[in-house]
Amino acid sequence: MPSGGVGIVASLPCYLEDNVDRQRGHGVYDASIRALQRLNALGYGDTLPLDLVYNPPLGPCPPLPPPQAPLAEAYKSFLAETFGIRFHRLLALANLPVGRTRHYLERQGSDRRYLQYLAAHFNPATVPGLMCGDHLSVDYRGQLYDCDFNQMEDLPLRSPLGQPLTLADCLAAHSLDLATTVQTAAHCFGCTAGSGSSCGGALT
Ligand code: SF4
Repeated sequence: MPSGGVGIVASLPCYLEDNVDRQRGHGVYDASIRALQRLNALGYGDTLPLDLVYNPPLGPCPPLPPPQAPLAEAYKSFLAETFGIRFHRLLALANLPVGRTRHYLERQGSDRRYLQYLAAHFNPATVPGLMCGDHLSVDYRGQLYDCDFNQMEDLPLRSPLGQPLTLADCLAAHSLDLATTVQTAAHCFGCTAGSGSSCGGALT
């Protein structure tokens, strides 16, 4: 069995070649299709978990993702009919202004505008489902974060006294509840805008 119990979540920002190659580079779509076909041959997308991730195309002010369910149907029917590809879920995520995306927006001079756009679309109904409520991210040093976005921004989980927390601290205390608050920053508006974005896709 090739999986070892591991599920795969793979980025495929569109089901159409032009859009993927424009966003990720020439030839990325072809390589992605071949990779998905190999994963299907190993049982991913069938008995083993295979999810795809959609992000809106980057631009000076990227839009929020369209509704997830109809987009998933469009992905499934096109990829099945054209390439025989099967997958389980499509996760539609907004572009979080972190890492390379934040640098791109800064180069465009639109980082503030994008944050204002996300904040203007704040949806309180997304908050109960945010992944920082019940997930942790761990980096290679054992440093803990509320989510992988905070990990990208080097915003670690902290104790009530403000000390960065590690996996070793939690193991020593026999508790994962050493932090009492989530470390938030402006990029959190990316998770809470519109239908919301989380590791399980849209939230509402
Ligand atoms: S809302 Fe903020 S802390 Fe929570 S998952 Fe999103 S980026 Fe991470």
